[in-house]
Amino acid sequence: MPQRILIQNGTLITFGAPCRVLEGHALLLEDGLIRRIAPPGELTGPFDQVIDARGKVVMPGLVNGHMHFYSTLVRGLGKAEPSATFQEVLDHLWWRLDRKLTLEDVEMSARIILLDAIRKGTTTLVDHHASPFAVTGSLDAIARAVKDSGLRACLCYEVSDRDGEAIVTEGLEENASFIRRCRAEGDPQLRALFGLHAAFTLSDRTLDRAAVMGRDLGAGFHVHVAEASSDVAVNRARHGLTPVARLHAHGLLGAGSIAAHAVHATREDMDLLAASGTFVAHNPQSNLNNAVGIADVLNLVERGVPVGLGTDAMTVNMLEEVRVALWAQHLRQENPTCAFMAIADTLFVRNPELATRLWGQPLGTLREGSAADVILLDYHAPTPLRDDTVLGHLIFGLAQATVDTTICGGRILMEGRRLLIDVDEARLASRSRELAAALWDRF
Ligand SMILES: [Zn+2]
Repeated sequence: MPQRILIQNGTLITFGAPCRVLEGHALLLEDGLIRRIAPPGELTGPFDQVIDARGKVVMPGLVNGHMHFYSTLVRGLGKAEPSATFQEVLDHLWWRLDRKLTLEDVEMSARIILLDAIRKGTTTLVDHHASPFAVTGSLDAIARAVKDSGLRACLCYEVSDRDGEAIVTEGLEENASFIRRCRAEGDPQLRALFGLHAAFTLSDRTLDRAAVMGRDLGAGFHVHVAEASSDVAVNRARHGLTPVARLHAHGLLGAGSIAAHAVHATREDMDLLAASGTFVAHNPQSNLNNAVGIADVLNLVERGVPVGLGTDAMTVNMLEEVRVALWAQHLRQENPTCAFMAIADTLFVRNPELATRLWGQPLGTLREGSAADVILLDYHAPTPLRDDTVLGHLIFGLAQATVDTTICGGRILMEGRRLLIDVDEARLASRSRELAAALWDRF
């Protein structure tokens, strides 16, 4: 692996606030970090490799704030009955599927989607995993796929009471052992959170057990929150609290935790999320697909909630997701010009902040000292590309551009659209089709 890589002649887009455009600047990557950013001609060699980024935009690797690697093998599965509600989507599809997953399915699922992530320039993924009849070792299986991909992922196991006490205990232990492993190894590719499914499938006893274990480990939580109105209705009926209030009452919210969705958050919920600093992962494509509503990102942000962006496994293409987030928010607010900054910030400011917090080092921005997670896209700007126009270029132009090169931690994973990692993609896909066919037979 080259130690000193110079990327020159490109147009740099920094992300973060403010998001800057640095025309023709060069980027020096050294020992896994962005060591220097300098105007043309200032950086001198020797270099182990020089990448000419002429005609390209150079930006940070993208961050996905909420993902499910395990969903890959569902592609094309037509056996699920039609669903009229979100609960039926879970009953007819996801909860039938995840009960049938083996450890090999789980690992394969991750391997396939991670290759796609390299192609789309998504270098950091925050995953939320479920395989209730293959719990123990599932996070290690995913971690093997992550290691081989060269990307970064933060993993957790989604504990739920829906399959009984023994599987709850196994899920709690799987989280704890993987968190301990990450702490012990300090591997820059891997991080861990404590995973919980959603308040409507979790008893008070399980929430308390998770809270104690998470607190002892110093870990944040990653949980679905108020994704559908049914989550709110069930929690109110059984516990007299909204899901947000209930999670808060059990000590599960906080600056290190991720609440995915928050579609049906009340004003009081928003204030609880803001006061606790809980990160909300907005997943508009999934919400549209499941017809559960669209999170009120505009009000969440105005009330001080840090809102970032996930895909809930609908895609690994974060620029596609941020576009849809903008259209969906316009529809949600019935206003075609609102929320541009709130939505742009989800991907270009908040997701880098989330990754930085999880990894304990600057991630997701082109700054000196940030991790050397860098992507190059083919893009000749057809209109002025400056600090004050860059967000428009990202959402309306670069989102349609092709990712040419993907670098993570200073390691080049794809260059000239050719994967450089050790993988036989055709053979991998062939085995994946076999596993998918067998899974569909069991479904
Ligand atoms: Zn999800």
